[in-house]
Amino acid sequence: MSNSSAVVVEGKKRGIGRILRPIRGQLTAAALLSAVGAMLTLVPLAGFAHIATKITLDTAMGISLTGEIWRVVAISLGSLFAGVIMVSAGELVAHLADNRITYHLRQAVAQRLARVPLGWFTAQSSGDVKQAMQDDIAILHSLTAHFYTAVGRALGAICISVVYMFALDWRMAIATLLPFIGFILFLRRAMKTGDASMTALAARMGQINSATVEFIGGIAEVKAFGAAGRAHKGFHEAVDGFARAFVSATRPLVTSMAHAHAMVAPVTVLGVVLVFGVLFINLGWIEPLDILPFVLVAPSICAPLLLLHTLLHDLSGATDAAKRVLALMETPVLESVPSSQYQHPRSYDVRFNDVSYGYSDGHAVLSNISFTLKPGTVTAIVGASGAGKSTLARMLLRFFDPDEGHITLGGVDLRCIETEKLYRYIGFVLQEVQLIHASVRDNLALGCPSASQQEIENATRIANIHERILALPRGYDSVIGEDAQLSGGERQRLCIARAILLDPPVLVLDEATASADAGNELAIQKALSHFAEGRSLMVIAHRLDTIKHADRILVLEDGRIAEEGTHPQLLDLKGRYADLWLKGNYECCQSSTPLEGASC
Ligand code: ADP
Repeated sequence: MSNSSAVVVEGKKRGIGRILRPIRGQLTAAALLSAVGAMLTLVPLAGFAHIATKITLDTAMGISLTGEIWRVVAISLGSLFAGVIMVSAGELVAHLADNRITYHLRQAVAQRLARVPLGWFTAQSSGDVKQAMQDDIAILHSLTAHFYTAVGRALGAICISVVYMFALDWRMAIATLLPFIGFILFLRRAMKTGDASMTALAARMGQINSATVEFIGGIAEVKAFGAAGRAHKGFHEAVDGFARAFVSATRPLVTSMAHAHAMVAPVTVLGVVLVFGVLFINLGWIEPLDILPFVLVAPSICAPLLLLHTLLHDLSGATDAAKRVLALMETPVLESVPSSQYQHPRSYDVRFNDVSYGYSDGHAVLSNISFTLKPGTVTAIVGASGAGKSTLARMLLRFFDPDEGHITLGGVDLRCIETEKLYRYIGFVLQEVQLIHASVRDNLALGCPSASQQEIENATRIANIHERILALPRGYDSVIGEDAQLSGGERQRLCIARAILLDPPVLVLDEATASADAGNELAIQKALSHFAEGRSLMVIAHRLDTIKHADRILVLEDGRIAEEGTHPQLLDLKGRYADLWLKGNYECCQSSTPLEGASC
């Protein structure tokens, strides 16, 4: 298709930065608050080192330290308190920002989806929406509410510790940082090994998948012919191959990661501080007590550094989630004129003007379709499966817009009619019955919320479903899927009642009896024939006996109108329709209650 020709694609720039743009200021403030807060919470460590040094040196010289100790304790406690407050404030700001962006994203996705063509909503796209609206937004929550503050805290703690150590003694500071440099080097090696191993593992996983599909696909034959042993062989080989590849891939990775973690274990850091401390004391560069601040502060870098590593690792998941949400927000939308240019149809005749359409480029499903649906008449569309009947019906409902040509209602292009109004003019009962998780009454009044109980009941009586609704535990208040468990045919009659309540001048019925059982079919056909009177009907049927009284029958073949006329005219032609009729008559002779009456 080119959906592309019928849609407006807005915005191409992708990335997490775009998603977070509205709350960038708040996130920066949260990260800064957390960083400064984390710095302040480390002040007591320096205070403790200071007190310990002073007590050891000055008490030995008989100097009283009471005043200074209290001052340092007060500063330490004050800093700790202020630090905790700032970290909490950072968390609060980040959570408020998260709340804002989550609301904004959900609104933006919902507004976007309200404008995409109905044909976009398939099982696959529903899965994408669920993934983006629930899972991905939850992943983004961990990014917005926790990532920036955690990074702020980790960087704040690391920076203040490093600055503090360099301020005390640059030689000891450099020596203390050696294990952390080792950590980064081992981590880089682990990541390089990991990238290479993942490619090999993905290839092995592909082999397992193919072997599994092959094995499952042929299981019946394999068992029937007693060749299970041979069929298992390929599968076992693939599984063994994966296990071997897994061991050889993970061994160097695990080794590098173990080395990296060993580097930043507090005991390693303490060991390095002590070894270099003793060395520097022997060299006469520092005094024994000078080691104390390093012993206290250096291990406190380990946890933030590991946290930083985990956070950066998780960032790729959040980036993918952001890309999926953005993709949803950029879903192509239906092309419509500005609301000031909306028009009202002057009558209710529907005209297809040279309409062509294809789901994918280069493959037309409908080609040069032209016909008129006159008010008060029934037009039936017939043809073999895959001929394009449902696509034709869906074009009238703007599930998709034509690639070429146009469709008018009362002389107005469908694109110039407000979408909500369009569904007041054109009602539909489709093959796939869609009911929402709400009461039966709400489902019936979906397009007509102001309908009175009397109007609703009139519609359900015509659709032959009133008695069945009354038999439900809570009648019209029963909730679909909870205490209203309805069969396929009953659900379809509910949809018919919904269409009747809307009272549209044009009605599209796409295989409306498709999911009906033999008993229900009679009821559905009766309901439809009552309702059809005086309206323009477009009926898509695979059973010809239901439409033989139609005013006009269009025979579709490979997306083109191959024949058209009334039932007797088409039979006389002895062409495609006559062939189908013979076949159709044979298929449906067991049960048939034609859509007689309509307007024929
Ligand atoms: P009919 O109703 O006559 O059985 P359809 O209109 O359902 O035919 O389908 C016509 C052709 O379009 C078929 O080849 C079908 O595979 C294809 N088709 C239908 N729906 C889609 C879709 N959503 N995406 C891609 N191809 C589709």
